[in-house]
Amino acid sequence: MDKLHIGIDLGGTKIESVVLDSKLNILFRERVPTESSKGSIHVMNQIEKIYLKALNSIKNKTHTLGIGTPGSISKNTGLLRNSTIPCQNGLPIDKLIEKKLKRPIIIENDANCFTLAEATIGSGKKFPLVFGVIMGTGCGGGIVYNNKLRVGPQRLSGEWGHSVINPNGNMCFCKKKGCVSTYISGIGLETKIKQKLNNPSSSKKFLNQSNYHKKEKQLLTEFYEFYGIALANIINTIDPDVIILGGGLSNHDGLYNEGLKKVYKNVFCEEPNTPILKNMLGDSAGVIGAAIIGKMN
Ligand SMILES: [Zn+2]
Repeated sequence: MDKLHIGIDLGGTKIESVVLDSKLNILFRERVPTESSKGSIHVMNQIEKIYLKALNSIKNKTHTLGIGTPGSISKNTGLLRNSTIPCQNGLPIDKLIEKKLKRPIIIENDANCFTLAEATIGSGKKFPLVFGVIMGTGCGGGIVYNNKLRVGPQRLSGEWGHSVINPNGNMCFCKKKGCVSTYISGIGLETKIKQKLNNPSSSKKFLNQSNYHKKEKQLLTEFYEFYGIALANIINTIDPDVIILGGGLSNHDGLYNEGLKKVYKNVFCEEPNTPILKNMLGDSAGVIGAAIIGKMN
């Protein structure tokens, strides 16, 4: 009998699950709120709740289980770091989830799950080397080559968002100054909007407005400039066959025309042509990728 694949995606506001059949068709999908302010035990209970719902939908049939999480588990300490679910940082969440669900799991960074899903059945499926870029609250990323995820010895592959591009820039949560994320993530752009425009507008609202006065235009140009530098650095380093954008800011059309020109301007060749594409799976990519991770291990 074909195996089924359950994926669970842990997010700052919601925990989502999906069940895929062996051909990666979605059989079931459900979500519950994370409610991380209620603490780590509550979040574990929410994970159990969504898992049992998925399990019930397939009448307890044999399945794999993959989990996508923000941040990653340190190879040295075995503890979660850099998660946007604050109450889970510093915990051995893979072990805790296995204990709670009474079964083995495979756990992976959520941007890696996004990239794997897009490379397998999304915008990247025709390309061998896929670099997935998340431009959401923060900037994450992942690398998939011939349908295999590259994790790296320090579990850092694809973490382009915390490369420093201006040592005199704004302070990032990672305690370095001027990371990519401080310029082109949602939070980074919102900090710039506050600093330069004295205006507490959201990054999405800023990018989607139809008219820009002089100072706004300057900030938008700066945003594209740093986007161009950041993505050209990826291209110059691994020359991917495609870059796929995800996250809340990835719907901004300017990234694919004016932004693209800035990327190509900074690439180290005369006729750059790396495609930069919008994701195909939208919000579902993370949870589908989590299910695929379980399938592959
Ligand atoms: Zn950083």
